[in-house]
Amino acid sequence: IRIYFVPFKMDNDKTAGIVCVFEDFTEQFNLEVARREFVAEVSHELKTPLFIIKTHTETLLNGYMDDKKMAKKFLSTIETEADKMTALVRNLLDLSKFDVQKFEMKKQVFSIDQMLRGIVNRFALEAEIEDIELKYLPANELPQMYADPEQIERAIVNIVSNSIKYGEKGGYVNVAAGSMYNEVYIKVEDNGHGIPKADLEHVFDRFFRVDRARTREKGGTGLGLSIAKEIIESHGGSIVIESEYGKFTRVTINLPTANVN
Ligand code: ADP
Repeated sequence: IRIYFVPFKMDNDKTAGIVCVFEDFTEQFNLEVARREFVAEVSHELKTPLFIIKTHTETLLNGYMDDKKMAKKFLSTIETEADKMTALVRNLLDLSKFDVQKFEMKKQVFSIDQMLRGIVNRFALEAEIEDIELKYLPANELPQMYADPEQIERAIVNIVSNSIKYGEKGGYVNVAAGSMYNEVYIKVEDNGHGIPKADLEHVFDRFFRVDRARTREKGGTGLGLSIAKEIIESHGGSIVIESEYGKFTRVTINLPTANVN
């Protein structure tokens, strides 16, 4: 806060009083802090995979190329890290489009039921590998939607993939859905790690991860939920997360069907 004292005078040049001006810079200050934190986060997120790519390439160039088995392992790590960087940059570009409101929505009529079946099928193998029982549970016949299918799918994929990533071996992930009036709800629930209470309100923040080291190992960037939130809210919907640490996590999306039925 900046404070100014400005004296004001009468016609005879005598000071009649003092005006005190308070200028509140909190908002600009917060924005500036957020911007700096964001730049620091992005730099850090890019530095880690770059470092791994660089050291692995160096090792290869310094003689490991002849060891075919080792070389293949190193190249595969380089590829994984490059993929992570690509995903990160893509997510960042999309978020910046949301920020400057240049996001082009390509709305069309589609079946949310088919979309959910497709997503669950796509994750079936991953779930099996992780020993997680993944199920699609529609409560009633779902109506057609009028929305951007690619974006909606992306939001749901981010949530389902979290439930599998942070799920429990031998546990479950349920994708339930139903409709009420002109709305569709989608609930993704798992009985995995859960999220500590204090962290819950931050999970939609950009780059927020409950356990940095562990989530990075799992390929997380901390952008999945913030992107999902932007997408759902730009469609006039809502997204809520509930969780109990060590017990369960449930993400509920409500989306207007946009009256196509
Ligand atoms: P990430 O790409 O790291 O998964 P998200 O934005 O999707 O980022 O999620 C933010 C953080 O919230 C994750 O890093 C993880 O710590 C936590 N989280 C999200 N979904 C779940 C879940 N189903 N179970 C436990 N933790 C979760």
